[in-house]
Amino acid sequence: MAKGKQQKAPDLSGIRNIGIAAHIDAGKTTLTERILYYTGASHKIGEVHDGEAHMDFMAEEQAHGITIMAAVTQCPWKGHLIQVIDTPGHVDFTIEVERSMRVLDGAILVLDGVRGVEPQTETVWRQATRNDLPMMFFINKMDRPGADFGRAMATIRKRLGGEPVPICAPIEGDRVVHLIDRTLIAFGGKLGAEVTVRPCDDATWQTVADHREALLMAAADLDDDVAMVVLEEEDPEPADLWRVIKQGCLDRKIQPCLGGSALRNYGVQPLMDAVISILPAPLERPASTGTDRDGEEVLIEMDHTQPLAALAFKVQMFEGRRHVFARIYRGVLKPGDQIYLTGPGERERIARVFDVDAAKKKRIEAAFAGQIVLLAGLRKASTGDTICDPAEPVLLEAIQARDPVLGLAIEAGSSKDEEKLLEALRKFQEEDPTLVLEEDQETGQRILRGMGELHLQIAFERLKREFNLDVRAGKPAVVLRETISLQQSADTLFHRVIDQGETQLEMKAGAAATVTPLDRGAGIEVSAEPQVQGDAMELTAEQAEAVQAGATDASTAGPLQGSPLQDVRVVVDTVTLFGTASTAQALRVAVAEAVRKAMSQAGGQLLRPIMATEVVVPEEAMGGVLGDLQARGAMIQDTQTEDGISTIACDAPLDRLLGYTTDLRSMTRGRGQFTMEFNRFDTA
Ligand code: GDP
Ligand code: MG
Repeated sequence: MAKGKQQKAPDLSGIRNIGIAAHIDAGKTTLTERILYYTGASHKIGEVHDGEAHMDFMAEEQAHGITIMAAVTQCPWKGHLIQVIDTPGHVDFTIEVERSMRVLDGAILVLDGVRGVEPQTETVWRQATRNDLPMMFFINKMDRPGADFGRAMATIRKRLGGEPVPICAPIEGDRVVHLIDRTLIAFGGKLGAEVTVRPCDDATWQTVADHREALLMAAADLDDDVAMVVLEEEDPEPADLWRVIKQGCLDRKIQPCLGGSALRNYGVQPLMDAVISILPAPLERPASTGTDRDGEEVLIEMDHTQPLAALAFKVQMFEGRRHVFARIYRGVLKPGDQIYLTGPGERERIARVFDVDAAKKKRIEAAFAGQIVLLAGLRKASTGDTICDPAEPVLLEAIQARDPVLGLAIEAGSSKDEEKLLEALRKFQEEDPTLVLEEDQETGQRILRGMGELHLQIAFERLKREFNLDVRAGKPAVVLRETISLQQSADTLFHRVIDQGETQLEMKAGAAATVTPLDRGAGIEVSAEPQVQGDAMELTAEQAEAVQAGATDASTAGPLQGSPLQDVRVVVDTVTLFGTASTAQALRVAVAEAVRKAMSQAGGQLLRPIMATEVVVPEEAMGGVLGDLQARGAMIQDTQTEDGISTIACDAPLDRLLGYTTDLRSMTRGRGQFTMEFNRFDTA
């Protein structure tokens, strides 16, 4: 690897790579905007409803008022640098959340102070948990009537099984009380940017006594020294409490909670202070795991003196050029470096390295372990690839991506735009692995597949806006799979004589196969070690390969309409050989025929995508919404009503949920919400 001039590793102890995640509408974007404003990263507050928020820089995001592309923004705060990776709330874009979680060091989960934990909060909680991320909660919208800090924390315990610990409580008059520092914090000036901190008076302190008690109990549970002090009914030192709460958060035993209102400008700066004091710097994170070239698991320590290992977590076009966001886990990366992509097994050269920010770029000369940077010059690296030193290849744990479940036939409005459309879609797919373009084998139609209606709709809007393309689209249709319903066996005798002028070529082979349905999610099992009958007792290596190939050929598509097959065991029972006529080709065809015959006798069954769905509606709409869900074939799993809000958990087939957003709105006068996540392919 090229050794440029030696660079000193930057001090990363001041950096916090954090993500802000939440259920849609909890106030994530508003909170991020406030953070940008207070840190001077943005001089103008773009309110979400004005459609000009800084983080939502893509035009579609502004039109839809939601956040689609996760972008990194740097916020300098009190001698530290908070790098915020904004994450989208809509489940169609879950891949974006998953990608950012993978490279974060900690997360802020935002709750609506009235609603508490909501369905999508559970999703991000699971993702953060999967990635071992320390978490804090910001309980937002405390200005709303009915908001309750304590009750919101109770939902964290009840619905997430979390261990919420209050550290900063909102009180009357748009102020907060810091429960560790025992201070009263007020917010004045433009958009609350002027913070006044003074010791909390006794009368006010009494109003938050319960929260303080909860904090002390949690701290005592975590640390024996603090427990001693608390037992003696004394006040622990703030420094001790900070230390214990930080350690508890890093060990993922507790989640510190702060409250406030992003929109009404209170409680945000104490949250930023807490990010600095509590969430980890990059080098405070545990080592990650990878696989070396011998397939052995290795620990990747965040050490810049060792060989490079980095993870590409997002590909994005800037000014028409391909850029790759990467997190460096080990080593140093410089412009001009030749790197190795472990996944695809390719070598490439880094042209430039940039500091990251939502829409601005600044060139840097080297990136060190722990940093998140933007790379130019990589044509092949894509999301999830490990970028490493060619001399020391490792594979970092890849990012989980899901298969798209909804498809749409599309074509260019005029045939001359055909090429342009393909080119544009190719670019989209590079940025987003959950968007897939396929060609229907039979009809030649192009099908664009994605994670949901909104996902596909946004792709269309981008085609129009960025590429000026008119696109015709069919109705969305779900991706189907097939399985079989019964065990069946069948045999065939393949026999063909081909005239080759003077001579004749005879091909002949027999085969018998059995197909058996398996449990949902089992996949395909192929066993091709048949008993051999006829002219020989054993198969040659070439023949054995042909038998395996024949069984595999026939196990890709289902018997009903040729959709991808799943949950079937295919066993080749016997093959019958007829001397030289039993060529590899003859065996392959015979075996495939026997398997297909068994499958069509067994009878195919269609499998549809089933979504784990959660619907939240006002109590009075519950009856109607339940009935409608059942009519759509949903299996109701659980219903709960609390404070006039009903939550329905069910499994429902995706094809029956198309257009549900609109229907639910009209059933609930716009107040109903729902989220869904792919669960499995199943009969329904
Ligand atoms: P996101 O979907 O989580 O990004 O949420 P947004 O930031 O887009 O906010 C959703 C809506 O809630 C917008 O209309 C905001 O103005 C509003 N909102 C955000 N924060 C607050 C808050 O603290 N109090 C109140 N009352 N409304 C808020
Ligand atoms: Mg948003």
